[in-house]
Amino acid sequence: MNLDDTAVAIAAAVNAREISAVEVATAMHARIEERDGAVGAYLATTGELALAHAQLVDARVKAGERLPLAGVPLALKDNMCVAGTPTTCASKILAGWVAPYTATAVQRLLDAGALPLGKTNLDEFAMGSSCENSALGKTANPWDLGRVPGGSSGGSVAAVAAGEATVALGSDTGGSIREPAAFCGVVGFKPTYGRVSRYGLIAFASSLDQIGPIAHTVEDAALVYELMAGRDPMDATTVDRPVEPASHALREDLAGVRVGIVGEFGLSELEPAVREVYERAYADLEKLGAELVEVALPTADFGIATYYLIAPAECSSNLARFDGMRYGLRVEAADVGATYEATRAAGFGDEVKRRILIGTHALSSGYYDAYYVRAQKARTLIAADFAKAFSACDVIACPAAASPAFAFNAKTDPVSMYLMDYYTIPMSLAGLPSLSIPCGYVTPPGAAGPLPLGLELSGPLFAERALLGFAHAYERATQHAELQSIPALPGPVGAR
Ligand code: GLN
Repeated sequence: MNLDDTAVAIAAAVNAREISAVEVATAMHARIEERDGAVGAYLATTGELALAHAQLVDARVKAGERLPLAGVPLALKDNMCVAGTPTTCASKILAGWVAPYTATAVQRLLDAGALPLGKTNLDEFAMGSSCENSALGKTANPWDLGRVPGGSSGGSVAAVAAGEATVALGSDTGGSIREPAAFCGVVGFKPTYGRVSRYGLIAFASSLDQIGPIAHTVEDAALVYELMAGRDPMDATTVDRPVEPASHALREDLAGVRVGIVGEFGLSELEPAVREVYERAYADLEKLGAELVEVALPTADFGIATYYLIAPAECSSNLARFDGMRYGLRVEAADVGATYEATRAAGFGDEVKRRILIGTHALSSGYYDAYYVRAQKARTLIAADFAKAFSACDVIACPAAASPAFAFNAKTDPVSMYLMDYYTIPMSLAGLPSLSIPCGYVTPPGAAGPLPLGLELSGPLFAERALLGFAHAYERATQHAELQSIPALPGPVGAR
């Protein structure tokens, strides 16, 4: 066993007692200490908690249990609660708040033997596409430390890419797992809305938020997904529908699979080198036996406009609870109203404030029908377009993002940042399962070396098992993740 093994391999070694979970926890913690100064994936490490869980795992394995994630190092985006651990959402407003309970998705993975190594950086309250909106720290892309890791789950993705965690959880509202996964060359998977409990995930936009796995392989992502998915009495939006085991149904080819290529997502506007990577990816799908069919998503172009009404509307309501009375930061002022104002003014960053303003406006009487209701209608049309497209294909393939990771401070106006999610937002609005998988590399001028690109594969509602199966066939045939590795990180160990 070595620290760069997959979750499947680490769990097998720990279950076979070739190595103990305590040894894995100790070694991974040491590696984080060495590397994270350069990457900044973690806001806080939870080494003692990981060790305590490791001891428990070793005792259970010794007693004859086999645990599917025995001793697997897990990183958690810091918008997920772990009892007794600070949870910040990378915001000043939650300063000092310690979670009193553990998120269901996290608890299920801990029960399966995973080790909680720490809490990772994110854009404040998961609002952003580069991790630069964090109020608490800077995370770099392990492929090029002068570039962003993507966002908002940038810390979780950077942790996996840099070998500072074997698997991680992110949350995806409009692309926050898939876009950073593409930027950092790992697999990032957003399940169908309602598949994974949101209990203990601090809400951004409740009708869109979904927790999902980040991993080096589709098999690891499938394993983490199936362990945390399923009905949870604590989240009424979870769906009472059996979770088909996905990690045992992984395919080796795509014979008979119809892959939809979206007419409206033509590749002609992309940089030539980026376009070539995607053209090759589509050709590779065909080589694996898939039939490429053109499908239409005529309303997908309205995705960004629709999302940037619905998500801010929901966030303006969800974030109303942070007022200095019961959680985190409190800035005392003359009376209760002034205290709310002073606390929120000091506690929230610019992007969060912008969204609260937009959302409150869109929900206000007089504008509600013109903005919010219209956006909901557009959302219905987008979902209907997908349903129609899926009558002609089994999976839709498209870029996960239009470019590789960009440099810090490259996108200063909010709209250019919002456009980063052009390819991921429509699937979120429709609630579909969708993932990003490494599909090649480009070396733009000024980059330290090759930068990864991601292919986005999306399926019909609840088709996780088929979708992960297709992605596995593509991954095994192309092996893009094996073709390049991240440059040596500063620190004694260096390259993965
Ligand atoms: N980048 C999008 C936003 O800023 C999506 C974020 C997310 O998925 N959490 O809202």
